[in-house]
Amino acid sequence: MPTKFNVYTGEPEGGSTPAAAQLGLEPPRFCSDCGRRMIVQVRPDGWSAKCSRHGELDSKDLETRR
Ligand SMILES: [Zn+2]
Repeated sequence: MPTKFNVYTGEPEGGSTPAAAQLGLEPPRFCSDCGRRMIVQVRPDGWSAKCSRHGELDSKDLETRR
């Protein structure tokens, strides 16, 4: 699935992604589909980020996709 927005800056894709973010350590702060700011919850074992329009993204989901 192509990303339209940088999930860490909210800017159109093309910006730089922090190294920690690429490793999945840093939770995304913006929805990749609409660029809205997401509600981020950090847990000891990962994180979840929720877009009001596109639902929840969880670090566990990213891990299983790799
Ligand atoms: Zn969204």
